[in-house]
Amino acid sequence: MATINTHFLKLKAGYLFPEIARRVKAYSEANPDTAARIIRCGIGDVTEPLPAAVVEAMHQGVEEMAKRETFKGYGPEQGYEFLRQAIVENQFAGLGISADEVFISDGSKCDTGNILDIFGHDNVIAITDPVYPVYVDTNVMAGNTGDADANGAYGGLMYLPCTAANGFVADVPEARADLIYLCFPNNPTGAVATRAQLEAWVAYARANDAIILFDAAYEAYIQDPAVPHSIFEIEGAHECAIEFRSFSKNGGFTGVRCGYVIIPKTVTGGDGKGGRVPLHQLWSRRHSTKFNGASYPVQKGAAAVFSPEGKAQVAALIEHYMGNAKLLREAVTAAGLPVFGGVNAPYVWAGCPDGLSSWDMFDKMLNEAQVVITPGSGFGSAGEGYFRISAFNSRANVEEVCRRLKALVAG
Ligand SMILES: *Cc1c(COP(=O)(O)O)cnc(C)c1O
Repeated sequence: MATINTHFLKLKAGYLFPEIARRVKAYSEANPDTAARIIRCGIGDVTEPLPAAVVEAMHQGVEEMAKRETFKGYGPEQGYEFLRQAIVENQFAGLGISADEVFISDGSKCDTGNILDIFGHDNVIAITDPVYPVYVDTNVMAGNTGDADANGAYGGLMYLPCTAANGFVADVPEARADLIYLCFPNNPTGAVATRAQLEAWVAYARANDAIILFDAAYEAYIQDPAVPHSIFEIEGAHECAIEFRSFSKNGGFTGVRCGYVIIPKTVTGGDGKGGRVPLHQLWSRRHSTKFNGASYPVQKGAAAVFSPEGKAQVAALIEHYMGNAKLLREAVTAAGLPVFGGVNAPYVWAGCPDGLSSWDMFDKMLNEAQVVITPGSGFGSAGEGYFRISAFNSRANVEEVCRRLKALVAG
């Protein structure tokens, strides 16, 4: 008999978004007259079309593929030089990152999951709570955890609580971890880490010979010039960190698919026999074995994000979403609820009223205002009592959500 990877059986079967979909469907069926009013502020997906410069570059890429003289078959697994060079020059200038330390992929979700291929199964893994669920579930699949308890917390993981008390930025723990997942600006809380906080994490990683897996998918949303965009702005990070980036949230590539990992050649891990091996070497081997490169028209489109027109168009997209975030923050405040995030990130993280649980608030918003939010508890038990409102929406929808939110809590 073919056996299965039984670690999959430990997974809490995709609880959050399927449960949201189930409740929305049930509401719509029971309330056909108000179902059309439903506004979705739940899922973290962009809503605005691709920047014109990207569309043009992708068209050009397709045209090249259509002619014998310019047709391209398999590209370099690590990505085209023109894109890796553009990334280094535009996103990592002066940070000591070279183009051959950039690996282009079809997105960050895949990269943050796949990276576990190159690590052992005996690492202590630190994960923030609340958290982007991919980090947890991919560790479960890899067999790096025990079973989940009644609260959904997996044995063997080190959870780092993020609360109002620490500004939703995890404190450096006392205990030793080997792998640490950090995401700034944060999904779901919208929190950002200061330079001093990132310095503390890099110092911790170096003292413990640990590696930081830094997810900077939302770096383009940082407004405060004092907030670092990359972990490589921190001295010493080149010895202990790798960084994940994506074109999904800046260029609106969620449906196009392109991301990248930065792995400095100086980051190493132990081979269990006293030796050290560069992660770059392992990831290069992994990437070229299991991946055949992102598509050429997509990489052309991604490079166009860094053209002068592309930069201006991306800036306009960010301004649009951050304008939404500002309105949502104001509405939450006017409703008398505690508000976090939404200043350097497209997510507003709000406290539930009168001791309501996250799911109570979800139901209240759906039933009384026909607005779909994401319950904070779905991202981890420390998210209980909070809800996330996404700023990825049209302005008209956000304005309507703000009106309903104020009326709901006032009424
Ligand atoms: C959206 C998002 C990403 C990007 O994922 P892609 O696969 O590149 O679309 C990465 N990390 C977090 C936390 C995200 O929310």
